[in-house]
Amino acid sequence: MHVKPKKGLGQNFLFDKNIQRKLVASYNLKARDHVLEIGAGYGELTKLVADNAAFVYALEIDPELCKTLRDNTKGYSNIEIINQDILIFNLKRYFSKFKNKIKVVGNIPYYITTPIIGHLLKYRNKIETVFITVQKEFAKRIVANAGSKEYGSFSCFVQYYSIPKILFFIKKGSFSPIPKVDSCLLELKIRQVPAVNVKDEELFFKVIRASFNKRRKTLRNSLDSIVPLQKLPEFFKKYGIDVNIRPEDLTLKDFAHLANSI
Ligand code: SAM
Repeated sequence: MHVKPKKGLGQNFLFDKNIQRKLVASYNLKARDHVLEIGAGYGELTKLVADNAAFVYALEIDPELCKTLRDNTKGYSNIEIINQDILIFNLKRYFSKFKNKIKVVGNIPYYITTPIIGHLLKYRNKIETVFITVQKEFAKRIVANAGSKEYGSFSCFVQYYSIPKILFFIKKGSFSPIPKVDSCLLELKIRQVPAVNVKDEELFFKVIRASFNKRRKTLRNSLDSIVPLQKLPEFFKKYGIDVNIRPEDLTLKDFAHLANSI
């Protein structure tokens, strides 16, 4: 039985069997893997994942869809359906007894992509890898390097905790209802330790956010509210950085040096 898609919950279902198989093959599942699926929908991916892993925790916010999901996955002893909102799901508590890290997968609802990634990274100690289908443009921003126009504070945040990679693109016509934009499978390999050495993470992210807030300005002008201005020339000199540099040209390492030198 199909229920009417709820636009407000980002319900664009993937019915293309080839893409479903391609996704699951890319998750590189092992028989011992425990997998959290975000937004299980009708359970099409859920069942494929369950065929290739030890256990699937299928999270779905929509109670109506959960009923169908339960029917569709009957007979699978390694699927647990959890009717919950991912944004309040406490992975630490739920997986407290797990020694091994879990994998997180899903064709996630696009309207909350940013908070979902933020939420998952909060629980990064529990996670080995995240494989999520997101909007193409969004993924490009996440993997962008310094110097590109897509590079921004969210790229820095995600790259600090993980190694992001776009695995393949998916045409919007593979989903129903058809969304406005194409998607892609994004992999976030969680780092054992963050990408760069930072003394004070809060300050580090504050500096990054402030820098990108005023993209068109030079670094000197963007940071005047955070960094004592007399510190900046010293920093520029020490790291051989041009005083007129724009924030989008600074790498994570540069931001770390800058924050550490304040
Ligand atoms: N996995 C299915 C598929 O591939 O066809 C459904 C994908 S659909 C893009 C996103 C799913 O996430 C929907 O089933 C929707 O109800 C569910 N969802 C939306 N917001 C959610 C939330 N905050 N927490 C958990 N699931 C959510």
